[in-house]
Amino acid sequence: MEYQETVNYCATHPNVETRLACGRCERFICPRCMIQTPVGSRCNDCARVRKPPVFDVSSMQYLLASASAVGLGGILGVVGAILRLEFGHFPFVTGILAAGIGYLLGEAVSRVTNRKRGLGLSLIAGAGVAVAFAVAMAVVQLRPITYRYDFLDIGFALLFLGLAVYFAVSRVR
Ligand SMILES: [Zn+2]
Ligand SMILES: [Zn+2]
Repeated sequence: MEYQETVNYCATHPNVETRLACGRCERFICPRCMIQTPVGSRCNDCARVRKPPVFDVSSMQYLLASASAVGLGGILGVVGAILRLEFGHFPFVTGILAAGIGYLLGEAVSRVTNRKRGLGLSLIAGAGVAVAFAVAMAVVQLRPITYRYDFLDIGFALLFLGLAVYFAVSRVR
């Protein structure tokens, strides 16, 4: 907060005298429109200026993230289903696959956005997991095999889906 030598008028409220100025752009502000931030008093515009850069995701990055999540989700769904059909009779295989698919999707979304984070990217990573699971379930249906019972069991499916989403989101949260 800077105190001015002379009395000035608020840039937003021309009738209000003030001795305060925005610490960033030095525009005059009155107590009514002053916003306290961790780095001092700011005018409305400067207080709104950008979240930390790591949460500042461009539309191009959202696009890249979505394309990667859907594309990779499809591929991982097929690979996961095949591995599941081959090795599903070993313990923990489905859980490990679900966690691995989630991790890879979250990591992919994180990489294509240059390590950005946030709710939007978490949702995109989660959507990638949903794509992977939908594809995996479709592939498993194609094969008349005995190990598909837990894919069809909604309780198991939700458990593994939750596990995958957890690992995906943990990369971009
Ligand atoms: Zn300002
Ligand atoms: Zn004002």
